[in-house]
Amino acid sequence: MSGPRIAQDATGRSSSALPSGEPGMGARRAPSAAAVPFPLTVLAVEDLGPRLRRITLGGVSLLRFATDDGATWDLRVKVLVPSPGHTLPPADVFAPKGWRQAWLGLPENARGHLRSYTVREARLEEAYPEIDIDFVLHPHGPQGPAAQWARTAAPGDQALVLGPATRPGSPEQAGVEFAPGAARHVLLAGDETALPAIAGILRDLPAGATAQAIIEVPDGHLVRGMPTGADAAIEWLVRGTAPHGERLTEAVRRAVPAPLRSPGPAVLNRALAAEPLDIGPERELLWDTPQYRRLFSAGEPDGHGMPGDAVYVWIAGESTMVTALRRYLVRDCGLDRGQVAFMGYWKHGVAQH
Ligand SMILES: Cc1cc2nc3c(=O)[nH]c(=O)nc-3n(C[C@H](O)[C@H](O)[C@H](O)COP(=O)(O)OP(=O)(O)OC[C@H]3O[C@@H](n4cnc5c(N)ncnc54)[C@H](O)[C@@H]3O)c2cc1C
Repeated sequence: MSGPRIAQDATGRSSSALPSGEPGMGARRAPSAAAVPFPLTVLAVEDLGPRLRRITLGGVSLLRFATDDGATWDLRVKVLVPSPGHTLPPADVFAPKGWRQAWLGLPENARGHLRSYTVREARLEEAYPEIDIDFVLHPHGPQGPAAQWARTAAPGDQALVLGPATRPGSPEQAGVEFAPGAARHVLLAGDETALPAIAGILRDLPAGATAQAIIEVPDGHLVRGMPTGADAAIEWLVRGTAPHGERLTEAVRRAVPAPLRSPGPAVLNRALAAEPLDIGPERELLWDTPQYRRLFSAGEPDGHGMPGDAVYVWIAGESTMVTALRRYLVRDCGLDRGQVAFMGYWKHGVAQH
């Protein structure tokens, strides 16, 4: 490949697909499938602090919603937010084949906005199944349609989510990026938008795994216990008035084992040879993960050959911050790209599209 790939559409295009793979940390990976629409109703709205709102969505359509054998890890979906003054487009616009073109063919002021979110919890075994999504409200600066929708959503409102569906013969299906392969130790790092994913990964890690999680949040309201069966150390960093990502970047650098911080020339040369330094167009989100590369570039490292004592690194959040950490870990420390997943979840000054 010629550089990191960009996830324009986390569930609608190829990036929604998951390759089949070997078990790692108990995770089972199902073959790829297109995202399908789930018409849902807002059941509950709960504030988890001034800047995070949990919205519970339910509907019988979720009886078809696919998980990784019950686990959701960092499972991503698309939420369709209605355009102001309009109702949601009909769900059948999102027929699996060619839905994006069909949706883009709707009048721009009426088709709504698609935004990526993480399934924080899925309670699918109920007669009326539910999922929770945690929305970051960004009180300062520009407001996007999704954050605005989350501010005003109320029980009874209609919602449409695009996500993975079970298929006959392939019951487990997930838009999951977390893929540690054989690694038994994971380093998870992210800002508040990655909090739902990090909480999900920690919850789904099996006993025997070890994890270090570093999470930067705007204020202390979001600091909370995160249940896990793994042996996990969780470091919370309250941003306060510091620039976004500054504290997280420093902490991740500190977390890198000392020998990796000063690799020898052989490792650095190998890293430079394998790592094109262009980082994609300025206005796009960085998306560079072993899963994604495996889909698009034959022969790319995917981490499955990693020894069990290798560390798998998963980093998500504001794209500029993730890009800087990618540079440091891959270029300066020579970390194998098969063991590092970098995901720009949003970018300062740039609306998702
Ligand atoms: C795979 C994936 C999973 C994600 N999971 C979650 C999740 O579970 N919860 C969650 O809250 N977000 C999550 N995000 C991030 C979320 O998709 C973006 O924050 C998105 O931009 C929000 O859409 P919007 O319509 O509010 O803003 P947009 O219309 O996309 O952007 C409008 C403006 O708001 C700014 N902006 C966007 N997000 C933020 C923010 N968090 N803080 C400050 N300014 C912001 C943009 O820079 C832009 O200037 C995820 C993203 C991805 C790719």
